[in-house]
Amino acid sequence: MATARQIEECLFRLAPREGAMDWDNVGLLVGDADREVRRILVALDVTPAVAQEAIDGGYELIVAHHPVMNCTWHPVQSVRSDTPQGRLLIRLLRGGVSAICMHTNLDVAPGGVNDCLAEALELIDPGPLGDGEGLCRMGTLPTPLPLADFVRQVSHSLHCNGVRYADAGRPVSRVAVGGGACGEYIGAAIAAGCDTFVTADLKYHDFLDAPGQGINLIDAGHFPTEDPVCRRVIAALQAEFPSLYVSKSASHREVIQYYVEGE
Ligand SMILES: [Zn+2]
Repeated sequence: MATARQIEECLFRLAPREGAMDWDNVGLLVGDADREVRRILVALDVTPAVAQEAIDGGYELIVAHHPVMNCTWHPVQSVRSDTPQGRLLIRLLRGGVSAICMHTNLDVAPGGVNDCLAEALELIDPGPLGDGEGLCRMGTLPTPLPLADFVRQVSHSLHCNGVRYADAGRPVSRVAVGGGACGEYIGAAIAAGCDTFVTADLKYHDFLDAPGQGINLIDAGHFPTEDPVCRRVIAALQAEFPSLYVSKSASHREVIQYYVEGE
């Protein structure tokens, strides 16, 4: 057995706290640090369904990527049952379920979100993109592919429901990747000589402008581009704590669906 504190320490060895952005909130965010843990549920987000899955399955701990509380999109000033986030936190605490979140520190970590994405897309020699925060990665394909073929490969590899993309008229060879919302790094991908950038949460004007600057853009979705890291987190926990039961959430999956006109 292990305590939540020991599991937090293990995860910070995988993805050091110092790697997190200033605005972020990572580590053991909910629950008793000294509580013994036997079962860990790994998910990208602590949704109400994931919380219920943990309670029903007898898990003492959820390890998630996105912070369950107190970051940019989840400010916490109160924990009240008449707010969705308050209900979620109360459900976790009443259910005796702790939560550890590893967010931007896991994005940048070697073997983290972006390395897992590069690996899922079978990029060769993935390395940091530019010299910024070391968030995104770039690598090459074994052989250049037409964009349509690469889009199909991305969709299959990441189990996407659909993919949005814009064609710069170039074959795909030198690829930058950024799991989650990395649209702000399009300029870095162009500067690094990439012909294609795979990320998520892109805006209309990104698709409008980037192809004219010579780069194919692929928005493969936030969940699909980050979910590959869950396997890595599970492997790290199983290696360090072989007696614990570590499982990926069955309830959390891509929620965005695509209606395609004419199909
Ligand atoms: Zn994310």
